[in-house]
Amino acid sequence: MTYSKNESLCADELASLQFKRLKETLIRVYNLVPFYKEKFDKLGIKPSDIESLEDISKLPFTKKQDLRDNYPYGLFAVDMDQIVRIHSSSGTTGKPTVVGYTEHDMDVWSEVMARVFTMGGLTSKDILQNSTGYGLFTGGLGFHTAAERMKIAVIPSSTGFTSRQLLLLKDFKATAITGTPSFALHMAEIAETEGYDIEKDFHLKVGFFGAEPASKGLKEEISKIWGIDYVEVYGLSEIIGPGVASSCKHSSLLHINEDHFYPEIIDPKTGEVLPDGQRGELVVTTLSKQALPIIRYRTGDITSLTRTPCKCGRTLARIESIVGRADDMLVINGVNVFPSQIEHVLSNIDGITLNYQIIAKKKGYLDKLMIDIELNENIMSENIRELESLKKSIQHKMLNNLYINVDVKLVAPKSIIRSEGKAVRVIDKRRSDEV
Ligand SMILES: [Zn+2]
Repeated sequence: MTYSKNESLCADELASLQFKRLKETLIRVYNLVPFYKEKFDKLGIKPSDIESLEDISKLPFTKKQDLRDNYPYGLFAVDMDQIVRIHSSSGTTGKPTVVGYTEHDMDVWSEVMARVFTMGGLTSKDILQNSTGYGLFTGGLGFHTAAERMKIAVIPSSTGFTSRQLLLLKDFKATAITGTPSFALHMAEIAETEGYDIEKDFHLKVGFFGAEPASKGLKEEISKIWGIDYVEVYGLSEIIGPGVASSCKHSSLLHINEDHFYPEIIDPKTGEVLPDGQRGELVVTTLSKQALPIIRYRTGDITSLTRTPCKCGRTLARIESIVGRADDMLVINGVNVFPSQIEHVLSNIDGITLNYQIIAKKKGYLDKLMIDIELNENIMSENIRELESLKKSIQHKMLNNLYINVDVKLVAPKSIIRSEGKAVRVIDKRRSDEV
């Protein structure tokens, strides 16, 4: 079941809707936001020059820094009397980013979030415990408003207070929950120490999780412990908040609400648009936002895009779970590598721990990638032949999965230096090696 007919348009219908909305957005930003007029004029582009969806690649990018530079309301395209909601980032690393919504924007937001809840099978009969943070952060209220729109009974429990959350979960008989994957695991742990029987005491059937990356293994673990379906929710406040994309019951990929948010994947180094299936940075253009329309926003999130049909019947393109951040990407002899991909390979190998250190070096003109990996306490470190074969199998798996040659060194448990309890993951020595 889908919430909106726009989730299953045929390719032509979708493209013409996207193009119509793109044109309206471009006229809007060109006429109402001096920042965009200046940027377009510098490149010699007028909204009328954009004649197809593909032409979007001619437009300039918007970066997080642009929102900061125009703090607080410099990128708004409406007067303040039309703004009905303001959210903001915490601004721990510089000026906060501020986002605003008109009544129309709030309607778009609650609609895309209602699509997410429908994907997870929720109806007005459900009870939702919203264990996502309320406040300036878009998470809590993003879920809340959509739940009210769908007449779902929403419990605004917000984050923290784990014992109370568990008590509410049991007594108020919530059938669905929202939150971060780490909070779901933490709650399960506390439930056990407090003597709850997860199967008998709780009534959950589905969880909506987001705001932090979760590996496939972690998602499966949460599903299993709680006996629930795991719906992954992706979003960012600069675009709208949660509800940009989410996973359906048929696939771990996330349908992106591309009738409102036009996605592109670019090479984070060159800015060039990449074909479907290739990994790169997700760039999003809002197609229906009024207060804060954004052109080609660089999310910094690494993923890929697919338009292959999904069994659920939605025709919306899908992105894979975020693989990493563009800032963490290493380019090894022309191949893009993310620490999270390496960690994924390592997590499926016995005998080693996930305490590792990736070291990139130059050897002549070529890049060389080395990984120090701490052995598991139980492994027989005296057996050199066994260690040699473990090392070879890791190198083989890296080559098969990441298409790069990796030099693996197995080291004693707890031998990699920790910083604040965690091993430093990546050391790039290439720049210092270059003379
Ligand atoms: Zn689907």
